[in-house]
Amino acid sequence: MKYYIWTEGCQMNVADSQRVASALEHLGYHDTPRPDDADVIVMNTCVVRQSAEDKAYGRLSSLRPLKEKKPGLVINLMGCLVGVKGSERLKARLPYVDVFSPPSDPGPLIAYLTQGQAQELEQRETVRRYAWMDGDLMLPASERGQQVSAFIPIVLGCSHACTYCIIPYRRGGEISRPPEEILSEAHALVAQGVKEITLLGQIVDRYGKDHPEYPTLAGLLTRLNAIDGLERVRFLTSHPNWMTDELLDAVASLPKIMPHIEVPIQAGDDQVLESMHRGYTVQQYRDLVARLRARIPNVSIATDIIVGFCGETAEQFEHTYELLADLKLDVAHLARYSPRTGTFSARRLADDVPDAEKWERFRRLEALQEGIAGEIHARYLSQATTVLFEEKVKNRWKGRTPTNKLVFVESDADLRSKVLPVHITWTGPWSMQGRVVDPVLERN
Ligand code: SAM
Repeated sequence: MKYYIWTEGCQMNVADSQRVASALEHLGYHDTPRPDDADVIVMNTCVVRQSAEDKAYGRLSSLRPLKEKKPGLVINLMGCLVGVKGSERLKARLPYVDVFSPPSDPGPLIAYLTQGQAQELEQRETVRRYAWMDGDLMLPASERGQQVSAFIPIVLGCSHACTYCIIPYRRGGEISRPPEEILSEAHALVAQGVKEITLLGQIVDRYGKDHPEYPTLAGLLTRLNAIDGLERVRFLTSHPNWMTDELLDAVASLPKIMPHIEVPIQAGDDQVLESMHRGYTVQQYRDLVARLRARIPNVSIATDIIVGFCGETAEQFEHTYELLADLKLDVAHLARYSPRTGTFSARRLADDVPDAEKWERFRRLEALQEGIAGEIHARYLSQATTVLFEEKVKNRWKGRTPTNKLVFVESDADLRSKVLPVHITWTGPWSMQGRVVDPVLERN
């Protein structure tokens, strides 16, 4: 019995798909790269932008003929398109889909496959235990022993309610996972060969706020740092308001916690930030960047920006442009605003920046950031840095620096999972090239 999983969207969805794969492997299924060969197809969807939603519907309709040819095929629609409440409308629209699952929950699929209504509750519990608690998490067979970097969701859902964001409606309110579950999942992943773990949450730095008895994120990082065999830990996405000095100092002082912070600003203008309901000002974000740079040596900082939010004037956009030019952050993930049904901005604010103007603003920021990233990367030239190697891509080994920069190295040796010193010989805005400093290490 074979399964095929299609994943669209954020790292949280990637992690959710891994969990579904793990649950299916426990039931004796094996993964296949071909949907035509599969007995179970899981479509793990994203709706954060309209284009992602359109893509999901496109892929779903392409499955219809397959289902007609092979009626025993089980199609599972999962993720944000379904949302936390499920959707009767979706069920009517997609009659050939067998199972609808909310984000992060393989339960309905496993219950369907095991076919016992009476067992459904039990199964849900079992699947949850497989995925979260047992310390027995299984990766898909194809990834076992090969996966170098894995995700662990630690905060599910979000309660912040940024006006543009659909996540709270689809993933529900914020829930921190118990630290014991997270640590046992980390131990299980490391036992299977994983070297790097990225902790995930919509506002990851709020970890534990809903459970005062849990450690803070800094406390959790301290415990993860102590795991033998684990080389690197990252966490994302942070919200500017919750980045305590305790957290920054944990990143600076714990050797396995990588100096890379993902902390979106979304806009560089106070009025736009207010209408997005972000909860901070541009000056507060500037102060945070200064604090990050003062407390964490060589920190790299990534941000997210939405251009063309409701009512964003040309002048307000210029403020974002100037801020980005001034702060010179390592990475800017750019998006053009797209109204998501049900959100505050879609209901109450006019999507009044024309599409062509959104594109224009997007391209200007893209060009600006390309220059900044090129400048930052050039500082690595002729320097040595450590790289964790993940896989070979077209004859070159791909890995990342502690600051999350992409590095390629040509080598005939098997570098997978190794952390090696690399001398950087070329840099560009998106990646770097180098050679392993010590050829003896490279072979061992
Ligand atoms: N929870 C995080 C936050 O906002 O701080 C990030 C998660 S969200 C899945 C990733 C990014 O998508 C956001 O940071 C934002 O820039 C972008 N995004 C979210 N909603 C959007 C929308 N309606 N239109 C365009 N971009 C959007």
